Amino acid sequence: MTAQRSTKIVATLGPASSSPERLAELVAAGIDVVRLNFSHGTAEDHKKRIDILRDAAHRAGRTVGVMADLQGPKIRIGKFAAGPVAIKAGQGFILDAACPLGDATRVGLDYPELIDDVVAGDVLLLDDGRTVFDIEHIEGTEIHCRNRHDGELSNNKGINKQGGGLSAPALTPKDMADIKTAAALNVDYVAVSFPKSGADMRQARQLLRDAGSDALVIAKIERVEAVENLEDILHATDGIMVARGDLAVEVGDAAVPALQKRMIRLAREHNRFAITATQMMESMITSPVPTRAEVSDVANAVLDGTDAVMLSAETASGAYPVQAVEAMVRVCVAAEQSQTVTLDTHFLDQVFTRIDQSISMAALFTAFHLKVKAIATLTESGSTTLWMSRVNCGVPIYALTPRIRTRYRVSIYRDVYPLLTEYIATDRDELLWQAEEILIAAGAVVPGDLIVLTIGEPIGQAGGTNTMKLVKVGEHRPPKPAIR
Ligand code: PGA
Ligand code: MN
Repeated sequence: MTAQRSTKIVATLGPASSSPERLAELVAAGIDVVRLNFSHGTAEDHKKRIDILRDAAHRAGRTVGVMADLQGPKIRIGKFAAGPVAIKAGQGFILDAACPLGDATRVGLDYPELIDDVVAGDVLLLDDGRTVFDIEHIEGTEIHCRNRHDGELSNNKGINKQGGGLSAPALTPKDMADIKTAAALNVDYVAVSFPKSGADMRQARQLLRDAGSDALVIAKIERVEAVENLEDILHATDGIMVARGDLAVEVGDAAVPALQKRMIRLAREHNRFAITATQMMESMITSPVPTRAEVSDVANAVLDGTDAVMLSAETASGAYPVQAVEAMVRVCVAAEQSQTVTLDTHFLDQVFTRIDQSISMAALFTAFHLKVKAIATLTESGSTTLWMSRVNCGVPIYALTPRIRTRYRVSIYRDVYPLLTEYIATDRDELLWQAEEILIAAGAVVPGDLIVLTIGEPIGQAGGTNTMKLVKVGEHRPPKPAIR
């Protein structure tokens, strides 16, 4: 295996991607992380999918991480008595917390507190903004709205408020129960929907820890408040998701491209990872090929420096899940190859207080200038790979770790390749030779290649990286002692 694609692919699992055959195809096509959408399905469904995935990945010799994506306080309308209703532009419509089943004039609300969060003049966006309601007045349990465009409303469509300001807490009772399920399922990442602040992320992390999970947490940036509190959130989270679906509705679609660039840059500067999500290959739900605009969107996310690009309905319920992954692979690789590697300089005037971080930065700086073939980091926790991968130096970073959890958690970092390896040597020289052999076996290097190795001495302690070594592969390896 030579490192061909630096950007990682997250694929959402659903009915279109849950059979053993299909998951094997998705793994072969190159998915790096699967996303389980906790808005749908039972704990049993998720467990089944994880088991099938782990089996497929194991058989293919690949590392594929698992993300649980919590539903969060998605505010929705209720159900209609007789299916979807047509609503005309200019027509009045009532959202009524006390209405059990909707009709052509009104529908219920699954979040009665909405009444307290809105005033006349506010704009509500339903069904990802397809339906726009101007609020005219509020009366008891009823929000009286005027509809802007001809359209249709059907059961359980989501509601956003333009400009943000909904008071619903990020973690609902269902999310708290789902965090326990996610911990029991041993997932690698948990994505929190609609967080407003760092406190929401700290709460999620604490609940995970209490449930016995060390999963990384991901903040989905999809509220106006989250954009305003981005720094605070970045301090409290491991990664962010540019959740463009809800975000576009809250901040206006035209603001999203610039926000995407800013979020990805800030995430990297804070040693956090970023996933770009939603509608990336949307037309491939029903078409075997992407549109030109989708190809550009994925490529631009790569050029923005995203760690991963994500597929939602394309792989969960679309007709062409494998083709969608293949298209993404193709577009990511071409975008990466089009990029001239210049070293980001943001880290040059940073002050490092940790030895392991300083070694990581020294390693990537050296790797860039000497144009080495690979960086190999013998890592327990994976932190060194995160630091190294925050600055694009054009050199693949191989994470050699005996810890299975670490292998999975680094699988989402751009430029980082976890290697399935079981190193057993405790002698330092022996360990380094073994690392070279693993890289050769993986096709990452050939004898004579110059590589940068980092290691912690004494061996086997997390956070202990304190040594950087430049090695010509195979150079000082003594002949193996003859077997007696
Ligand atoms: P969702 O989040 O798909 O869970 O809504 C992503 C987004 O809003 O873009
Ligand atoms: Mn969302």
